[in-house]
Amino acid sequence: MAGEPQADCLFCKIAAGKVPATIVRETDTTVAFRDINPQAPTHVLVIPKVHYPDAATLAAAEPQVAADILRAAEEIAELDDIKETGFRIVFNTGSGAGQTVFHTHAHILGGRSLQWPPG
Ligand code: 5GP
Ligand code: ZN
Repeated sequence: MAGEPQADCLFCKIAAGKVPATIVRETDTTVAFRDINPQAPTHVLVIPKVHYPDAATLAAAEPQVAADILRAAEEIAELDDIKETGFRIVFNTGSGAGQTVFHTHAHILGGRSLQWPPG
């Protein structure tokens, strides 16, 4: 069934607590944890507990959960005190854009100046 946990998915395992992560926030529908290879002083990943391969697929199937990710992002920014200085929410979509884990995730980046356009 759509959204069901996938046995071979790293982020399904983190969402289920089977793989450890530094969790910063959890809701009924989302989990936020620090990226293992941070690219900025704040680099948090927000994932839905349900499994969809990317943000657009999640938004089409479960739009409320997609919105929950964006709301969680702002709360992470408040927690890490980067709301005033600004932060970036990134959904890499497809391997050509750098996506390596095919379970929807938002990168929340902040705490340093961020270039635009990104590389
Ligand atoms: P993507 O490249 O798919 O947009 O992002 C995947 C992110 O997951 C990368 O930034 C990578 O550092 C992070 N990541 C990969 N494996 C792990 C892990 O086991 N734990 C944590 N906390 N982050 C991971
Ligand atoms: Zn998954």
